[in-house]
Amino acid sequence: MTEAVHHAPILEWDTPLYRQASTQLEHALTLADIPDFVASRLKYPERAVILSLPVRLDDGTVRTFPAYRVQHSSVLGPTKGGIRYDEAVDLGECAALAMWMTWKCALLRLPYGGAKGGVRCNARALSQNELARITRRFTAELAPFIGPQQDIPAPDMATNEQTMAWMMDTYSMQVGHAVPEIVTGKPISIGGSVFRHEATGAGVVMVVERACQRLGWSLAEQRCVVQGFGNVGGIAATELHEKGASVVAVSDISGGVYAEDGLPIPELHAYVAENGSLEGYADGVRRISNAELLALECDILVLAAREDQVTGQNAADVRAKLVAEGANGPTSVEGDAILAARGIPVLPDILTNAGGVTVSYFEWVQDLGRLFWDRDEIRRRLADKMSDAFDRVWDVAQSRDIALRDAALVAAIREVSAALEARGLYP
Ligand code: NAD
Repeated sequence: MTEAVHHAPILEWDTPLYRQASTQLEHALTLADIPDFVASRLKYPERAVILSLPVRLDDGTVRTFPAYRVQHSSVLGPTKGGIRYDEAVDLGECAALAMWMTWKCALLRLPYGGAKGGVRCNARALSQNELARITRRFTAELAPFIGPQQDIPAPDMATNEQTMAWMMDTYSMQVGHAVPEIVTGKPISIGGSVFRHEATGAGVVMVVERACQRLGWSLAEQRCVVQGFGNVGGIAATELHEKGASVVAVSDISGGVYAEDGLPIPELHAYVAENGSLEGYADGVRRISNAELLALECDILVLAAREDQVTGQNAADVRAKLVAEGANGPTSVEGDAILAARGIPVLPDILTNAGGVTVSYFEWVQDLGRLFWDRDEIRRRLADKMSDAFDRVWDVAQSRDIALRDAALVAAIREVSAALEARGLYP
């Protein structure tokens, strides 16, 4: 009989993406000069909920979907973060994304900590009725753990305004009255904010524009490539196009399109609205793969699809002069090191895509006050927030001669640390 060997069990969320977030944190901690008790608290999520959701499909059968919600830190306020529907969702992914949300909220000086959740499913293979049932069951199971002063979900990959409307309705039915402030990114008719839909992509371009100013470039003269043509990438491409930059390539899950003299972005949006994706679009463009898109010669590469796109394998092929992270975690630790060694600056995710959570915060404030602002006011407040955070990050990077990602993390961690030190460790 062989003897069982007992190894220390791994922590449940310890996956490659979580290790990426942890490695970034460990490195930033060497620069941040914060107390050990704060550092050890921030390495792990406060709470992780694992669920299995039995849902009746349209054919009458019942399928059980794994689902998660991770809350990383409630030091600064309620936790906040998206819900994604994707086949790759796991506890480690949610834990990594929750940690990044903590840094993002702190960097933007929003009174929130980070959370993230999701359901492991292929949203494109499910009907609207099936998605509604998944969302309602998920919300009902999450009800004890979420709340306007506790944890506030928002859309993420493959979820949208409709998903948030189902969540808001389900939660409201449980408590007996309408609670618009339970989610952000919902339709305007039930307390959503104008400009929330555009906020992340618009914020990406605000950061890119600010970086161009610091680098002495004119945005209108830049050739841009955008990976991902969903909420973030699609809006970023439109904003770049409207500001006069030339968007020469975009892509989605079906592949990419390239045009030397710039793409007709409004036409591409119309095509995707009608056909669901860029697949089949061939009007005056060259079809390219996502791998080819990442290696195109350009000035600005916007990564707005998903995590782990520029890695140790392909970072040497990137021929952009500046990389902007619209997605969360699109550059791996190895990819980051290669880009840094090649002198290609990376505008980090926790700064660059923070426009979404910032306008989510405005939405929550408007819902709590039952008083709504107009588009110009929100755009102006967003621009103020993004440029304030950008300037702080840029100045830390310059004065300490460190990468923009490290500067952003150091600035964010110090915000959380100051709060945790002031509050102290309970009991
Ligand atoms: P989305 O589902 O609206 O769009 C994702 C896009 O990426 C789609 O066009 C999809 O086809 C494409 N895509 C997926 N896999 C791809 C691949 N391997 N190669 C190329 N394209 C691929 O999602 P979204 O809301 O735009 O989110 C994109 C990223 O931005 C995610 O990392 C998300 O966490 C992050 N983010 C989103 C928001 C927001 O407000 N929506 C805010 C902050 C960060």
